[in-house]
Amino acid sequence: MTATIIDGKAHAAALRARVGTGVEAFVAATGRKPGLAVVLVGEDAASAVYVRNKGKATVAAGMASIEHRLSADVDQDTLLALVDRLNADPAIDGILVQLPLPTQIDERAVITRIDPDKDVDGFHPVNAGRLAIGIDGFVPCTPLGCVMLLKAVCGSLSGAEAVVIGRSNIVGKPMAQLLLRESCTVTTVHSRTRDVAVHVRAADIVVAAVGIPGFVRADWIKPGATVIDVGINRTVAGLVGDVDYAGAVEVSGAITPVPGGVGPMTIACLIRNTYVSACRREGVAIDPAI
Ligand code: NAD
Repeated sequence: MTATIIDGKAHAAALRARVGTGVEAFVAATGRKPGLAVVLVGEDAASAVYVRNKGKATVAAGMASIEHRLSADVDQDTLLALVDRLNADPAIDGILVQLPLPTQIDERAVITRIDPDKDVDGFHPVNAGRLAIGIDGFVPCTPLGCVMLLKAVCGSLSGAEAVVIGRSNIVGKPMAQLLLRESCTVTTVHSRTRDVAVHVRAADIVVAAVGIPGFVRADWIKPGATVIDVGINRTVAGLVGDVDYAGAVEVSGAITPVPGGVGPMTIACLIRNTYVSACRREGVAIDPAI
């Protein structure tokens, strides 16, 4: 069997186009563009690339992108004061502080300072709580993109056996919550799990968010399973995921490549969350296709 390759770029382009259409209706209704503020602290090269790509995608969707760059030695109070100003600014619908932050700054203090209703990254504890108990909030962009891909490929996920590998606050935990919300039977495995392979072998859906190249072996995968590879690992061979792709593509029913799978969906979901935030704040109906 050769798997269906899940084209994350195409799914992301389609989502960005739907958001663009929604934004046009929002602008017509309110006379203003949705606004996303992105805060970048320091000169980290990878973070600068992410911020630039986020800004480009925001503008391409017809929204306003507002960038704030602070020097690497900025103190925490200055950053918190900026977050307060963005919280109070009616033209700003989404606030994103690019992580990681320099060591003199307590990331948790910054994340919890963002108004939960502008927290388009979905990292605020209030949004984690909303996801856990099933009320509307913001869901972190990477797991949201994964569940969108899964629903596009599989249709209903109800009753599926799902394994999430990894339990980080930004990927693994919200991923497990989202799959539970889709009525999957969810197992989360992590660094202290005694036998990861046993769990993966029973799974119809495997989501790998580990950060170890080729961690998930092809002989762990149940034939026909759907595999979502969140991993982004820079190796001498280039960018690779957490799954042995060459082997897994022969066993699985569908699989995301790295690059070109989950990655493009993350930014598209950020754009989506910003549009949703703007609609909620202005009382504009959210396009159900988005
Ligand atoms: P993390 O380091 O915070 O978490 C990794 C998780 O893997 C931990 O919960 C740990 O328990 C688990 N783990 C480690 N070793 C293990 C083992 N031997 N067996 C089972 N589980 C083990 O990482 P993260 O932030 O969740 O990111 C995971 C990967 O996803 C990274 O490669 C990261 O670059 C990538 N990522 C991609 C995107 C995207 O947009 N595609 C977004 C975020 C993260």
